[in-house]
Amino acid sequence: MEEEKLKFEELGLAKNVQRALDEAGYVYTTSIQEQAIPVVLQGRDIIGQSQTGTGKTAAYCLPILEKIVKEEKYAQAIILSPTRELAVQITEELRKFTKYEDNIKCVAIYGGEQITRQILALKKGVQIIVGTPGRVMDHIRRKTLKLNNISMVVLDEADEMLNMGFEEDINTILSQVPEERQTVLFSATMNKTILNISKKYLKDPVNIKIKAKELTVEKIDQISLELKSSMKDDTVMNLIDLNNPKKSVVFCNTKRKVDKLIEVLKKSGYNAECLHGDIKQDQRQRIMNRFKKGEFGILVATDVVARGIDVDELELVINYDIPQEEYYVHRIGRTGRNGNCGKAYTFVVGKEKSKLFSIQKYANTKIVSGKLPSMQEISAIKNKQIVQDIQKVIDEKQLNANIKNDILVELLKNNDVNVVAQALFEMLNTKKDNKVNVENNVVNNISDTESVRLFLSVGKKDHVMAKDIVGSMAANGSISGSEIGKISILDKFSFVEVPGCYVNSVLDGMKGKQIKGKKFNIEMANSK
Ligand code: ADP
Ligand code: MG
Repeated sequence: MEEEKLKFEELGLAKNVQRALDEAGYVYTTSIQEQAIPVVLQGRDIIGQSQTGTGKTAAYCLPILEKIVKEEKYAQAIILSPTRELAVQITEELRKFTKYEDNIKCVAIYGGEQITRQILALKKGVQIIVGTPGRVMDHIRRKTLKLNNISMVVLDEADEMLNMGFEEDINTILSQVPEERQTVLFSATMNKTILNISKKYLKDPVNIKIKAKELTVEKIDQISLELKSSMKDDTVMNLIDLNNPKKSVVFCNTKRKVDKLIEVLKKSGYNAECLHGDIKQDQRQRIMNRFKKGEFGILVATDVVARGIDVDELELVINYDIPQEEYYVHRIGRTGRNGNCGKAYTFVVGKEKSKLFSIQKYANTKIVSGKLPSMQEISAIKNKQIVQDIQKVIDEKQLNANIKNDILVELLKNNDVNVVAQALFEMLNTKKDNKVNVENNVVNNISDTESVRLFLSVGKKDHVMAKDIVGSMAANGSISGSEIGKISILDKFSFVEVPGCYVNSVLDGMKGKQIKGKKFNIEMANSK
């Protein structure tokens, strides 16, 4: 049972901010937010420690927004972050929260980008600065950034900043900020250097530490399986055949994949249903109830919807896509309840292996690497199934050697009964083979990690920029921006490199879509 969480509404934030939160779908605070926001609002210094992905950004951004004096245009808050990516992400989060607040401006300043653009932005008057220490130092030296009116400092990912050797820079920057400021530090880990920094720069800080959710996993076998994306569907079916669970849940990361997989499963005769965000609430409830009652045995779902699942006799969980660290715990924690044993398989494709390590660290658990079911195992289990099925028919229909079927009588006139049985099996098998082959997609002989060049029939002429392509692929192609490789935009067309494992989903997902309002073709480029 999940305990009742604090809602953002209850924090009494500014109306414009609350409206933006509603729109972004932020309803309940996370633990670190629940504990940190009120304390930061009070003006206290804090040291906040919690795992990645627990919403630390909003924990300090929302109080900052409450505290900014909108009428003043000078820099009032500075957020230091270790990398440009994080600085950009924080700025995006701030912009999300200030969507309905025209009078609060923020800017990201980081190395690797033309400093002149940043100087222009700073000149216009910005209240919140998000920057990497090195570039912030640059601006201080050039006198394009003044810190004498700063009333709030955030050190985000302090551990990472120290790892990257920013201690000196942080010291220098903090020495330029007025003494009577509020200082807030967030970090995933605590160590001596961070404690020293906080002793030096934080005043009587409140310590807030959120422990990672512990997993009670002794009863769950956790197994990772390395495979190619193109093998996932078959492997799901093989695992279900092999383990023969009363109930199983297969988790995918996107609705599209849920829809595709459920189609494959149903076509292959499995009794499966699906749940995801596009399915209406009351229907979801109905499906869930039927699953609980055991009316069907396989549920394919996305994380969002599967949150509240509590199902008896759930013996198998398959992570069709590798989950976010946090979700892993939610997903596999559902099996092996009430003293039952459970198995949890996680599919891993190519580079995702590194993610497996962070999941284990986050969840404080061990996932052993397993082998894909072998042909022998699968055929053995299938044979057993066929024998059982046939035996069932024999028993139920009380068949005996006294043959009444006209066709059989006819066949047995000239053939031995064994030969007829064999011929029937041949027919059964050819039927099955035909069924399997239709599913596999266009591209098969590409390795998952190989970089594949795709051709798009839009380019500079259509005012297409790299970010438009990335955005569209991320939205439609089930690929994250960081997985997308080199993008070359030419006059009339563009090339984009993606890892082989995404080729199918990108080609499928982008079909019929538009970029910058223009329809386009997308296909594999001929050669490098
Ligand atoms: P951290 O800094 O702890 O690693 P982030 O602040 O980057 O975590 O948040 C992780 C993700 O969760 C982001 O996509 C963010 O938008 C989202 N998020 C944060 N807080 C909430 C919330 N209360 N409700 C819904 N989504 C949230
Ligand atoms: Mg963070």
